[in-house]
Amino acid sequence: MNDIARLADRIRDAETVVAFTGAGMSTASGIPDFRSDSGLWNRFDPEDFYYQRFRADPAAFWSDRLALHETMFGDDIEPNEAHDALAELADDGQLDAIITQNTDGLHACGGRGDSIAAELLELHGNAHRVVCEECGRRTDAAPVRRRIESGELPPRCGDCGGLFKPDVVLFGERLDEDTLYRARRYAQRADVFLAIGSSLTVEPAASLPRTADRGGATTAVINFDETPFSPTAAFDVRGDVTDVLPDLRASVVE
Ligand SMILES: [Zn+2]
Repeated sequence: MNDIARLADRIRDAETVVAFTGAGMSTASGIPDFRSDSGLWNRFDPEDFYYQRFRADPAAFWSDRLALHETMFGDDIEPNEAHDALAELADDGQLDAIITQNTDGLHACGGRGDSIAAELLELHGNAHRVVCEECGRRTDAAPVRRRIESGELPPRCGDCGGLFKPDVVLFGERLDEDTLYRARRYAQRADVFLAIGSSLTVEPAASLPRTADRGGATTAVINFDETPFSPTAAFDVRGDVTDVLPDLRASVVE
């Protein structure tokens, strides 16, 4: 029996299955990463995207943010086969939670009525929403981007006049405590923990698989390259997530 078939067995037998996803999940959708040679931080200055700069000069921040958003997402970014496979596992009742570092919103979009049958924890927020700094209202970012393009800089909340901020965790901001708490709880409770498309080098990505391992989970790394956690993981599957995840899903339901 190969690794995929054995991992599929563990998933079928598990009460709680948790997937943790990183940038490698979305590169097949055409979303550039941040840190590689062709990554976004070679085209944009990370200094421009600090929370402190947003507060000090929100108009200039938003102008740069709009350019970054267009470079990241272009016109027609779609979920790929790996997103679809996780959504199908959730529909099958075989996946309980997705914890993601990605802000692209692709886990909950596509031909599924824009939702997913697992709990979705977006640790770094969602770039397709904005949040009001004063009243906390969250709203779709697309109309706000159009307002910026027609000259409303910085964009403000229609309810209270507060500044709109992208609903993502900027440099210099902390992760949302409640979301992080729930992610850690899922890692502790998991019977199977899948770490997908993440180098697992920065926090909290580095510690969540270790938390799951200490809690007794069967852990699997599904990634193109080796990660610091790979030697510890029960399954170390090297490959393209858009190949591995559809195979895994097919093996779970067969
Ligand atoms: Zn407001």
